[in-house]
Amino acid sequence: MSYRPGAARRVGLTASMAVLALTTAALAVKVTSSPALGAQGGEAEVQEHLDEAVKNSGGDLDLVNRYRTYSCDAVEDPEMYGRTSAERHATRVPLTQVFDDLWYIGDQYVGQYILKTANGGFVLIDTLNNSAEVTQYTMPALESLGLSTKRPLEGVLVSHGHGDHDGGANQLRANFGPDLDIYLGSGDSSRKTYNPTLIDSAIAEPQELTIDGTTVVVQSIPGHTPGALNFVVPVHQNGKRHMLLMGGRQGHPGAVASAKGYLAGAERTYQLVAEYGVEGTFLTHPTSDGSTVNMQAIERAGTRDPNPFVIGHERTLRAAAIWRGCAAAWLAAVDPTTDVPVWRVTSLTFPELTSQTTTLTAQLETGWGGVDRGAGWGPVAGQTVTFRVEGSRHGCTAVTNSDGVATCEATRKILPQQKVTATFEGNSTAEYVNLPTSTSTVVPTR
Ligand SMILES: [Zn+2]
Repeated sequence: MSYRPGAARRVGLTASMAVLALTTAALAVKVTSSPALGAQGGEAEVQEHLDEAVKNSGGDLDLVNRYRTYSCDAVEDPEMYGRTSAERHATRVPLTQVFDDLWYIGDQYVGQYILKTANGGFVLIDTLNNSAEVTQYTMPALESLGLSTKRPLEGVLVSHGHGDHDGGANQLRANFGPDLDIYLGSGDSSRKTYNPTLIDSAIAEPQELTIDGTTVVVQSIPGHTPGALNFVVPVHQNGKRHMLLMGGRQGHPGAVASAKGYLAGAERTYQLVAEYGVEGTFLTHPTSDGSTVNMQAIERAGTRDPNPFVIGHERTLRAAAIWRGCAAAWLAAVDPTTDVPVWRVTSLTFPELTSQTTTLTAQLETGWGGVDRGAGWGPVAGQTVTFRVEGSRHGCTAVTNSDGVATCEATRKILPQQKVTATFEGNSTAEYVNLPTSTSTVVPTR
């Protein structure tokens, strides 16, 4: 087991992500500077961000159902979560395999995941509510999966220090002895009696944590609690690796300072998803991100192939943007002086390109597909789009017109089967952060 602060890999850190990092850094300063009541302010500011969390679905209602319902409800229907949680508590979920190397056990309100490591041991994500549940559920589950001296429990990752996540930690310590690492964000470490191994909550950068050959990315997102953590976990479906986010959505905190932290954490969660090519999410409150629905789909279909947890990178980015919109709406609801930009997911679409010509064109849009032209959403005008043609230095650059369409002439004809990539590096104003995007297409044969 090795813990290397600051050793985060930077896979896929593109120029466009660097731009995003700059814009969000500027944003973070703005959020924490207690701005005077802005032009928006109050109810209008709340509504603007609730709308943001709809529009950034891009018209994908499944994303709205899974990711917006249990996040924007904090603003729109604050009693809903509590009203429905008793029923979820009462509905047990037996040990359920969700990937080649990942299982869930608990109930529909809260539970834990068991990850099989690259070297054949096990890692727990969260610990169930208390010692009795560890004895009744965790231990038999681990034993049924082959727990032994050759396949030991190698570590425990605790998402944050609330009792429904670390209530079983003392029993795990008793069962597995002093050498077991139970990782916890340092911000949540006071009054813990299970001797946690601390992840420094003051380190904003994602960090790599390698346990028994499996490397998990850990990111501190103080907000819900001071020690709250995101994990990016490599899981496998039919042997193919996918990076999934465990985290992202937690309960929105009531204190203004914490709500500001939560918003900053939601924005860094988006960056984490972008940097690590995350293709889906799972959560130890499984109903709050669609994990329950996914497990039911696996049960019904009798197969994990295709795996409903793998929703694709673009959709996971939209999910993270939805969470960010809800977090901004919540901050505006608890602090009427809030005036933060609207984040807009952008997309670039190609018409069918014609080979043996030099014309490259794509449309840059935000919001609910082509029909959403209200309140500043829809086509994005006046922005630079860069076209690259695979295997050629002869791309071109153009600025979008009022329909969001960028068109330019490459210096050579494009050929059948060549891959063309269009990239928008993102931009921001006081009102908007237009998120970066990139898309590729293959030139048809005819
Ligand atoms: Zn909690």
